[in-house]
Amino acid sequence: MTVARPEAESFTGAVFTGADIPATAKRDRSGHAVAGDPDVLIRAADVADVQRAITFAAREGLSVVVRGAGTGLAGGAAAGAGTLVLDVSGLDRILELSAADELAVVEAGVPAATLDAAAARIGLRYAPDPASTAISTIGGNIATNAGGLRCVKYGVTGDSVLGLSVVLADGTLIHTGRRTAKGVAGLDLTSLFTGSEGTLGVIVSATVRLQPVPVRTVTVAAYFDDVETAAAATAEVLAARVRPAMLELLDADSLREAQDLLGHQGQEAGAFVVAQTDGFGADAEAAVVESCFARFTSRVSAEADPGAAENLLAVRRAALPALERHGRVLIEDIAVPRSRIAQATQRISAIARQYDSRIHTFGHAGDGNLHPIIVVPAHDPGAGERAQAAADEIFSTALELGGTITGEHGVGLLKRDWLARELGPDALRVQRVIRRAVDPGGLFNPGKVF
Ligand SMILES: Cc1cc2nc3c(=O)[nH]c(=O)nc-3n(C[C@H](O)[C@H](O)[C@H](O)COP(=O)(O)OP(=O)(O)OC[C@H]3O[C@@H](n4cnc5c(N)ncnc54)[C@H](O)[C@@H]3O)c2cc1C
Repeated sequence: MTVARPEAESFTGAVFTGADIPATAKRDRSGHAVAGDPDVLIRAADVADVQRAITFAAREGLSVVVRGAGTGLAGGAAAGAGTLVLDVSGLDRILELSAADELAVVEAGVPAATLDAAAARIGLRYAPDPASTAISTIGGNIATNAGGLRCVKYGVTGDSVLGLSVVLADGTLIHTGRRTAKGVAGLDLTSLFTGSEGTLGVIVSATVRLQPVPVRTVTVAAYFDDVETAAAATAEVLAARVRPAMLELLDADSLREAQDLLGHQGQEAGAFVVAQTDGFGADAEAAVVESCFARFTSRVSAEADPGAAENLLAVRRAALPALERHGRVLIEDIAVPRSRIAQATQRISAIARQYDSRIHTFGHAGDGNLHPIIVVPAHDPGAGERAQAAADEIFSTALELGGTITGEHGVGLLKRDWLARELGPDALRVQRVIRRAVDPGGLFNPGKVF
């Protein structure tokens, strides 16, 4: 197919075509690709660029793959032949910070960590904090409804989104939602676009809720003999009816690898859990967390110093990059009801043995969201097939335990087949009808999600 060259001078941002398109624009962090190379890459500088890019793509018969920072782990931003990659990371202005209304209006390309730092200057914070908070965009976070470390108390990204500005397939700019604390006018289009993985439109800006910075934070670290005991201890914390702001778990290898990557003098253990309590009751809640952990291990300590706490959290954030150093990894993302975390970790260990696969588990234990990471060694020819079979078994396990195939990374390319199993034919049909109504020509991200 021959595609006309978009006139570079009509875009404020940058235009690339053919071989000039950087290879990085073809994939996301999952490493998964689709056949062929994208035809055009437009790095939009403003909303008008987004609208022009969509008009151009529709005229030239190209589909549009919206791209934030490309840190997605489901192949959602992977782009192949016949596509225009619309990179919106250059829409990077914080348009408003309101202390009185505790909200911010922010363009899609701003990293959540940047917004959080700006909010701190007025005594507020943006609560959602995926481990990729510094390297992903808030538009991507909204498009994937990203989770993060603080979800257990503050909810996922969508819980902080009040309204959106979205460019639709015909180039129209619409505004959804509100800037009030509550409001129920009409269908909830903000929620519809949140988590839509680039299939319905281009999120160009968002109005998001900010929260008070907690008056005090206490971090509790505990080392356990094995991951099943650690999972049981996290369940004990939740059953004690305290609400830590974080409750994160790493198995032995994730802990060792993360400490190694960071150059930390670490402790050896079968599993590591880091919990954080915050707010006026932080000390009282931390005492309950400590006593819950102490029923399972003697290696528990509490830390109120922010620097020391940050070192503990850095270990959790480093887990994925540390494991990625060992070659190809399948990054799984199941969530189970929180009462079933220990059961899920036992089943994952059994699956690793059954398929003779190296599976390392870390995750947001407070949400029941586990990331079993399946390492595929390059020198083992059967490892890829065994890893895929193990992944399928892990998804089955999640559904059997009443959970989901994706707690936060999304469906993208990777879990299309599994989505049908989780939703069932009737709910899937309704999703297809909605997609077709919003994007009748199938412009956005065809072949992704469903
Ligand atoms: C080290 C690391 C840690 C991570 N930790 C977490 C974590 O704790 N929690 C979590 O949920 N995820 C995590 N992720 C995954 C990833 O960072 C998130 O999915 C993130 O939200 C993706 O943002 P992005 O800007 O990179 O989006 P991209 O990867 O560029 O895109 C993701 C999807 O959103 C769509 N999209 C992007 N921007 C827009 C837009 N403006 N409008 C419409 N659609 C859009 C794309 O088409 C694609 O389908 C992690 C990834 C890495 C590499």
